Amino acid sequence: MKALDYADSLMKREGKQRVAMNEATFRKVNEGMEVGQDPSGLLTFVCECGRLGCNKLIQLTRAEYEAIRQNPRRFAILDGHEIPEVEGIVERHDRYVVVEKAGDPEAEIVEHTDPRRPLD
Ligand SMILES: [Zn+2]
Repeated sequence: MKALDYADSLMKREGKQRVAMNEATFRKVNEGMEVGQDPSGLLTFVCECGRLGCNKLIQLTRAEYEAIRQNPRRFAILDGHEIPEVEGIVERHDRYVVVEKAGDPEAEIVEHTDPRRPLD
């Protein structure tokens, strides 16, 4: 492999890791936001996309949010905020879409940072 190709692939790998870390951070924020809200209506969360500087809000019912949190690889984001290189859309809703991580190392990162992950 040429040095330049190597640098390129390394940067791509680091970029993917950064995206996964951003998403993991927003998930943690949302776990805190869920607790403080009336569970009967629409709850407000931050978009869990990995884009730098995204501070958009999304609304989900508690049940919708809980369904996503059942899978550590899934995140709720605004339509159009997905990053096709690192995730695929698995569900489309009016207010949000659900993306799922498939590749390594992102899938591993988001699984290990899952706040609901049982302790070993
Ligand atoms: Zn976003």
